[in-house]
Amino acid sequence: MCAIVGVYGSKNASKIAYYSLFAMQHRGQESTGISSADGSRIHLIKKRGKVADVFDEKNMGLLTGDCAIGHNRYSTAGADSILDAQPVFARYKLGEISVAHNGNLVNKDEVRERLIENGAIFQTDMDTENIVHLIAKSKEDKLIDRIKDMLTKIEGAYCLAIQSRSKMFVVRDRFGIRPLSLGRLKDGGWIVASETCAFDLVGAEFVRDVKPGEMLIFDEEFEGDYISEQIFEPDYHPCAFEYIYFARPDSIIDGKNVYAMRLEMGKRLAKETPADVDLVLPVPDSGVAAARGYAEGLGAPFEMGIVRNHYVGRTFIEPLQEIRDAKVKQKLSPIKHLIEGKKIAIIDDSLVRGTTSRQIVKMLKDAGAAEVHMRIAAPEIKFPCRYGIDTPTKEELISSSKSPEEIAELIGATSVGFLSVEGLVDALGHDRSYSLVSFDGNYFAGGCAESPGCSS
Ligand code: AMP
Repeated sequence: MCAIVGVYGSKNASKIAYYSLFAMQHRGQESTGISSADGSRIHLIKKRGKVADVFDEKNMGLLTGDCAIGHNRYSTAGADSILDAQPVFARYKLGEISVAHNGNLVNKDEVRERLIENGAIFQTDMDTENIVHLIAKSKEDKLIDRIKDMLTKIEGAYCLAIQSRSKMFVVRDRFGIRPLSLGRLKDGGWIVASETCAFDLVGAEFVRDVKPGEMLIFDEEFEGDYISEQIFEPDYHPCAFEYIYFARPDSIIDGKNVYAMRLEMGKRLAKETPADVDLVLPVPDSGVAAARGYAEGLGAPFEMGIVRNHYVGRTFIEPLQEIRDAKVKQKLSPIKHLIEGKKIAIIDDSLVRGTTSRQIVKMLKDAGAAEVHMRIAAPEIKFPCRYGIDTPTKEELISSSKSPEEIAELIGATSVGFLSVEGLVDALGHDRSYSLVSFDGNYFAGGCAESPGCSS
């Protein structure tokens, strides 16, 4: 999960990085950081907390220079120390370096063991620290060659923004699992960001997506331009989960608007698993677009029958089950007079552990619903993602061991229905080979269901 941004060639580099991270806050709320480079030094500020809480006029003033990279972190359960905040900064033979990473390296443990054997010391459990060590230990003379050297040693999902005192390097893994786009700023500078919603806020023009296996190099020598190198043969597998849940609805990933994709998933869901209901309600906000599509597909009325309190963060982020339970009630509350006596279809984007749905079904029944049909605009999640989406262990994934009928019984719903994998691919389009690992367990980029996850 997480978000990265990189800005080059703008006198407002750190401010633009700030606003970009603000627009991408949904990708990670645990910690945030920006490092800037002014040609002779790298300056870094990172802390636990949200973007608007961590940065202020005073500390932003320290982030001078026309290049800045930034990161929002979404931690996996347990690992939430300040040390795990990014960008990761280090001093090494060639000077100073800072790295921001979105994704998950599947060979993190093997690489780390080898580095430790050779005397390396680590401060964190993050895979990103491996990257810094590999660059620092490379025998190559130039930073670009050290980065290339490092890239031959890591496997898995990564989008990287790497900054030296005067240059910026951006890399996307050869599978293009996590999204990364390139934009042009009004003042002629360049911006790369995990999602295009960042461009909209800072007034940047979308140029193109960074290609799978591509490296972009930004350097003063290129006089306002950048250089592109295709480092690896692409084998494109963009993540379907970005469209299902993770990305913001206004973002465009690989030329496809996220909202439009969710609407389409909802329509397919109505075809595949209709329900005889009086009303279609979304789980706000994650299910809104799909519920609109479902209602349209069914020809049933759509209502915002559950109110969301926006002062509570995403529930899933809490590592402890008890906190997660209480937070659902804090966050969502039903409009009784809409619901009373009605047959309801309630739509969410995905079902992970079943915590949210169980509470929502109970909430709707307590509000007097006659029937509650839970519909999920994604296939059954049976396998943990190892490519940067934070999913719990296979055992905790309710669909890994239970059928829709058993889940309906467990969560107290009248019925439960999922979108099929084919339906999902129909909605997204057959022009790509999507990463569907959570649904089909095809770990094409390495890793397996049993290896521990570590999203950066
Ligand atoms: P659960 O209550 O465990 O079934 O989780 C389902 C809810 O979590 C849905 O409302 C989703 O929008 C949301 N969700 C799905 N995947 C993730 C994820 N990887 N991280 C955070 N939230 C998620």
